Amino acid sequence: MLSNKDSPVSLDQRNATRLRVLEHIRTRGATSRIDIATALNTSPATVTAATADLISAGLIKEVVGESKSKSAKRGRPRVLLQLDGSSYFVAGLKIARQVISVLLVDFEGKEVSLHTHSLNKTSMSPRDLVKTIYTALEQACSRTEITIGDLSGVSIGIAGLVDAKRNFVHWSSSLTERNVDFSRLFKEYIPCPAFIENDANLVAKAEQLFGLGIGLRNFLVVTIEHGVGLGIVLDGKLYRGERGCGAEFGHAKVQLDGALCQCGQRGCLEAYVGDYALIREMTVATQDRKPETVSDIHERANSGEQMAISVLNRAGQMFGLGISNLINLFDPECIILSGAQMSFEHLCSDEVMDRIQSGVANVDAPLPDIKVHHWGDLMWAKGAAAYGIEQVSILKVKELPTNAA
Ligand SMILES: [Zn+2]
Repeated sequence: MLSNKDSPVSLDQRNATRLRVLEHIRTRGATSRIDIATALNTSPATVTAATADLISAGLIKEVVGESKSKSAKRGRPRVLLQLDGSSYFVAGLKIARQVISVLLVDFEGKEVSLHTHSLNKTSMSPRDLVKTIYTALEQACSRTEITIGDLSGVSIGIAGLVDAKRNFVHWSSSLTERNVDFSRLFKEYIPCPAFIENDANLVAKAEQLFGLGIGLRNFLVVTIEHGVGLGIVLDGKLYRGERGCGAEFGHAKVQLDGALCQCGQRGCLEAYVGDYALIREMTVATQDRKPETVSDIHERANSGEQMAISVLNRAGQMFGLGISNLINLFDPECIILSGAQMSFEHLCSDEVMDRIQSGVANVDAPLPDIKVHHWGDLMWAKGAAAYGIEQVSILKVKELPTNAA
């Protein structure tokens, strides 16, 4: 039985130190050995050994920096360490309903290429999905100097219940089958290590690294698009649950025996808030004018159509109820509402904020910050790429000789 530690491999103490040093360099940019030792509260000898190993693995390189003291007559140039961006290439993918977005990055996370691959089916068999991923990767690489064989890792974000530690998807609306172990299929089709993770977790990671979560210890990211997802960062770390089935905010029940959800159960939050739910309700209510997208419903509400206003209001109230439950459970510093769906103003209205306020247990303290972050699929893929870089770093460090000094 696999345990659910923060990394998929068990790292010994030396590897843990190497990774801490690597992460420090990634966060800080070019920095000296002595500054790393001070920041990590470890000995210079330990840092020297770790950086030597990381250099030999091609993960970092030495660069000459400016002398700290310009007035020093014999000031030796300082040797700094920074990531070796060109050493490895990683692909981050986001599987959405209609497209797969592929972002190729170097080891520093710099964009090499962005490619969008259209899908003609919203869900497919696991094998077809992996074949399609391969095609999308090939197309993305064909626009660059690198080939698919040059990739060191591929990281894939998918909606659903995912046990990232073993590339196992319990359930996803993008798949026609349940309980899929992707490790074998990845080995068959993808010529480098591949990792699959819940897409909301990847957005949380991207918010933490590049977005509104920078510097926060405890925050939640609620993603709103076809369904509703949740990423939980507690004490600076992504919380995944024991089986990778946690944080299914979209399937939290808000109504006993309520509306039918795409997961097969009733009364789930996303059966009231997800875009499919809004379109379904509008279609039932106004059979002659089926909306294509949530934006259509917004347009009709803005032009005064009562039915559209009512559908959006109800979604907002259900959403507010769900958010107040999250605050009661987690007491986060901040909740970030994030999504590719550009039309979720109805979930951020004053009425929704009132609903949240009235659902939160009464304390004499202000509500957590609730921030809205409009993201496109690129940013989801960016989160995937960040996860890919993290996993490739762990693999490369693990490949280092364990007896290195
Ligand atoms: Zn559900």
